[in-house]
Amino acid sequence: MAANGNFYITTSIPYVNAEPHLGHALELVQADVLARHRRRRGQPVRFLTGTDDHALKNVTAARAAGVGVREFVDRNAARFRGLREPLALSFDDFIRTSADARHRAGVERLWRQCADRGDFYLRHYQGRYCPGCEQFYASAELDHGLCPEHRLAPDPVTEENWFFRLSRYTGELLAALQSGRVRVEPATRRNEVLAFIRAGLTDFSVSRPAARAHGWGIPVPGDPGQVIYVWWDALANYVTALGYGGRDERPYRDWWVNSGERVHVIGKGVTRFHAVYWLAILLSAGQPLPSAIYVHEYLSVGGAKLSKSGGHAASPYELADRFGTDAVRWWLLREVARSGDTDFTVERLVRRANSDLANGLGNLQHRTLALVRKYRQGRIAGPGGASSFGTELAGACQALPRLIDDALARFDFRAATGAIWSAVQAGNRLIETQRPWELARRENQGDHAAAAQLDGLLGVLAGACRVLATELAPFLPAGSAALSRQLGTGDGPAAPPAPVFARLTAPA
Ligand SMILES: [Zn+2]
Repeated sequence: MAANGNFYITTSIPYVNAEPHLGHALELVQADVLARHRRRRGQPVRFLTGTDDHALKNVTAARAAGVGVREFVDRNAARFRGLREPLALSFDDFIRTSADARHRAGVERLWRQCADRGDFYLRHYQGRYCPGCEQFYASAELDHGLCPEHRLAPDPVTEENWFFRLSRYTGELLAALQSGRVRVEPATRRNEVLAFIRAGLTDFSVSRPAARAHGWGIPVPGDPGQVIYVWWDALANYVTALGYGGRDERPYRDWWVNSGERVHVIGKGVTRFHAVYWLAILLSAGQPLPSAIYVHEYLSVGGAKLSKSGGHAASPYELADRFGTDAVRWWLLREVARSGDTDFTVERLVRRANSDLANGLGNLQHRTLALVRKYRQGRIAGPGGASSFGTELAGACQALPRLIDDALARFDFRAATGAIWSAVQAGNRLIETQRPWELARRENQGDHAAAAQLDGLLGVLAGACRVLATELAPFLPAGSAALSRQLGTGDGPAAPPAPVFARLTAPA
């Protein structure tokens, strides 16, 4: 069956053992930009996010907080969902693995399909388990005996578990990744995944004794003494949210089976789970694979690793409250590197917002509207005839939509926002070089050529402001709307300009 034109996009679902931090904001904002961009281009879009409630470390954290697990995960999940407003997120659906009726039925169905395929077997197992990662580690994977993510020694665990025959899918996984049927971006991540698979896949444990899980999680179908491994459970959210295994599988067919694109946005720490385990589970269950997996890097804050426990300086709630949603989104999209980690500081956020938004884009529109008001009574002329002086700016604006499309197709948010910035710079440069105030002076002295030139210049500038306001929408929805409002419809005089982006001050 031919694919429909639908675009399905998801974030990973974070553990809810603590408050959301700036790293979560990064992933949510990146996915949001892709969703908004595709909607603007007329594609049907479904954007899913949610929370992983079944992680064992949620149980540990609830106990430490002296709260029941249910109450604890409900409270923290609400903090993740609550990021919608401060970060201007446009997700269509929010799934919670413990509380959502859709989820369990789909997880069980996926399990049964893999079981029918003969891909599970029971095995007595001894290993070292990092509760932070919720995974077993082989000695070779540890760094001086410590988990590479959490810098803690994993716990020795001995138990009987269900194992999944991952090794069986080596050839199919390599074929899917090499052919581009599943695109992993950036290419460095794809190469890491290929190297990991080529080094030899070992079957992995996909259940835990219910006792060790303190009864938290989804029981293994047919073996209630075991609960399904939280990663299996969590990965399934991408399809259970679409009704997979439920009474109505139409959304699953529309957005997964027949969808043109199925895109996962994830952090680099969970690449293997998505680009290897998840693909193998889907292959085993006979279900279609995602079409792309985009892997983002990590943020540090003031040079320190972002941890949920110590990330107060980088609470997305606090930052949005203090500096505004646009400034936070712009920093995440414009400064976070595609490869290598990026360090966040409040000073960097403030500097970037002031340079690009207040002094750059905001100033361009403010100057343009002020000139139009002063010299043309607020009436914005059409784009005007072809004028040689405006070609750089007009060209930059004409090329902008395609540059953004191309950059976002590569998941390159920096290139996309960089293209906007280049057009803004061309606009401000044009005002400096063409000196409209001098054209106006000559016009007043009866110079008709100068009058026509001023008309053309203001037309090009106003046209550029319109394109910028429009193309900015996926990145800064509020800023884009405010710029467009100020520009008006073009029927009447434009409103008196007022700053759209506040000039921010860094803390002393
Ligand atoms: Zn760990």
